[in-house]
Amino acid sequence: MRYSGLRVIKEALTGHKGWKPAWREVAPKRAYDYVIIGGGGHGLATAYYLARNYGAKNIAVLEKGWVGGGNVGRNTTIIRSNYLLDGNEPFYEHSLKLWEGLEQDLNYNAMISQRGILNLVHSDAQRDAFTRRGNAMILNGADADLMTTEAIQTRYPFLNVNNARFPIKGGLAQHRGGTVRHDAVAWGYARAADSLGVDIIQNCEVTGFRIEAGKCLGVETNQGYIRANKVASCVAGSSSRLMSKADMRLPIESHVLQAFVSEGLKPILPGVITFGAGHFYCSQSDKGGLVFGGDLDGYNSYAQRGNLPVVEDVCEGAMAIFPMLGRVRLLRMWGGIMDMSMDGSPIIDRTHVESLYFNGGWCYGGFKATPASGWCYAHLLATDTPHEYAKEYRFDRFEKGRMIDEKGVGNNPQLH
Ligand SMILES: Cc1cc2nc3c(=O)[nH]c(=O)nc-3n(C[C@H](O)[C@H](O)[C@H](O)COP(=O)(O)OP(=O)(O)OC[C@H]3O[C@@H](n4cnc5c(N)ncnc54)[C@H](O)[C@@H]3O)c2cc1C
Repeated sequence: MRYSGLRVIKEALTGHKGWKPAWREVAPKRAYDYVIIGGGGHGLATAYYLARNYGAKNIAVLEKGWVGGGNVGRNTTIIRSNYLLDGNEPFYEHSLKLWEGLEQDLNYNAMISQRGILNLVHSDAQRDAFTRRGNAMILNGADADLMTTEAIQTRYPFLNVNNARFPIKGGLAQHRGGTVRHDAVAWGYARAADSLGVDIIQNCEVTGFRIEAGKCLGVETNQGYIRANKVASCVAGSSSRLMSKADMRLPIESHVLQAFVSEGLKPILPGVITFGAGHFYCSQSDKGGLVFGGDLDGYNSYAQRGNLPVVEDVCEGAMAIFPMLGRVRLLRMWGGIMDMSMDGSPIIDRTHVESLYFNGGWCYGGFKATPASGWCYAHLLATDTPHEYAKEYRFDRFEKGRMIDEKGVGNNPQLH
């Protein structure tokens, strides 16, 4: 069933009796060509591009909970491609280009809104760093705009430009960045993948791998054993837990990240703004709530909720640049499990076990990567070669010392 304006009108006039479920409820078959573990954004996008780009037919996505219940439905919805390093920027720019055509491709309204992102600058050294980053973005075909304090003041008059401690000295803007309704991305990919024949199986937890003579033959689940020619792990924050069942220890730690939504307000924020002297970022949803977040909680955890010190830190960051937020009431907050890698960049690679593949280490930036991650992982699964845009995202970079460390903070996952 295609969605369209005409369809909405027709259904409105006929009592909404013609809508079909967005995807089928299916029981798992005994065997598949591809089993993708994890029905988050990345797993569903991988299944979709495997079917669409490579004509693969016999694919299952196994999700232990429900589609959209993981980080894909918990993030602060920001998309951008403002990276510095060659290993990252072409990948994230490819992702942003895929976002730009995604709604037409999936025939699904994911509320993609390129309202722009502005990273504030508070010191001369930071301006130098952002100038370099902007140039790297432009060299890779992305857009970047170094804004002056005056231009920022005109566009965002509510910002505390003359804060005595953190004066705003300019900013790096990417006008093609923005926000996307996060869970709609999961639903859109699920529906599109299902329409190409992918089986999406919810409440199906993978509890183990069947590995014989160095080859993965299938997965054990709470719904029985499922054979597979290729098994693809794509479980984000649960990566270490899942891969430990295949006796693998990953260069990844799991940390909590919180998100916050305020009461609904009239439109006050025309885009995404990030504070450069602390950890605070904010945008306004189409319903009017301010959607914001900050730093990791700073300890290893698989809990999907955080603690008060970070709430305080986030509020301090907010007040430093947006004093007008002082009277806004908080409506909701939650946490998600972040798969923090040692250099802050992801992994899309084969493992040493034949037919077992891995996608993870997205840290807190994996939402914007969803389309490109699915695109490149599908390429790896179908061809057994890394996609050009993901060729640096290999496990062996940790062994060979070819880190992709955007922040230059070393192998301390909680600092990336
Ligand atoms: C608070 C917060 C804010 C964020 N903000 C941003 C942002 O603004 N921009 C951005 O780019 N990124 C952001 N992120 C990061 C982004 O959300 C993640 O990197 C990304 O969603 C991870 O990929 P995913 O969607 O596939 O993960 P998930 O949605 O977590 O999917 C993984 C799925 O695997 C399932 N699973 C786990 N174990 C098993 C098993 N054994 N068997 C079967 N299924 C299993 C889980 O139930 C889950 O549904 C944020 C994250 C959080 C928590």
